[in-house]
Amino acid sequence: MTDLLIVGPPGAGKGTQAHLLAQSADMVHISTGDMFREHVSNLTALGVEAKTYMDAGEYVPDELTGRMLTDRITTLSPDASLILDGFPRTLAQVHLLDNLLDRLDRRLDLVIVLDVPIEVAVERAAVRSSIEGRADDDATVVRRRHEVYAAQTAPLIELYRARTLARDVDGTRLVDDVATAIAGHVTTSASNELRDTTHGTFLASPGRVRSA
Ligand code: AMP
Repeated sequence: MTDLLIVGPPGAGKGTQAHLLAQSADMVHISTGDMFREHVSNLTALGVEAKTYMDAGEYVPDELTGRMLTDRITTLSPDASLILDGFPRTLAQVHLLDNLLDRLDRRLDLVIVLDVPIEVAVERAAVRSSIEGRADDDATVVRRRHEVYAAQTAPLIELYRARTLARDVDGTRLVDDVATAIAGHVTTSASNELRDTTHGTFLASPGRVRSA
């Protein structure tokens, strides 16, 4: 089981890459943005509240976002491997995730940092706006989303670097090349985990303790 998250600015391609990886590695893709959009289109109370923030390029309050994510993750099979896309975005959400994973006996194995210069991300959002018509891809809102990302989310990357979980991936390359780079990090992380687990079992085995 490998749990990972993908971080990067709006327009970096997190959703596309998370979707591809979920398919190729049989993992569960959890996107808080997609979940909110579903609530918005179903006109739920949460959707109505979230929409005002989303349309303005602001973050939905931690309390609402955290509750929605907690409900989703706690209903997952313990064997499922997760790809978190768009969560956590604030320090409070990092703490919520740490506690939640701990409680479920899970842990984050890897953080993919999708690097894309702001000009490229803004250009991509403009293209997406004309194709998908997402209200939050409007130019003014896109600028605000980048400001909010820089102020609240970018600092979290340093936190994950300090935990030695972060791996940088150049998000300006072709979609397939980015996917290959990410898959490589996932494979390395999974084999390191297997090695650590095997090593731990060996050291902890009663036979080994007795003969030592
Ligand atoms: P995304 O599709 O991930 O870019 O998310 C679209 C919008 O949903 C964001 O601009 C926020 O308004 C809201 N959103 C998604 N995830 C979060 C989160 N973790 N915390 C707060 N707001 C979020």
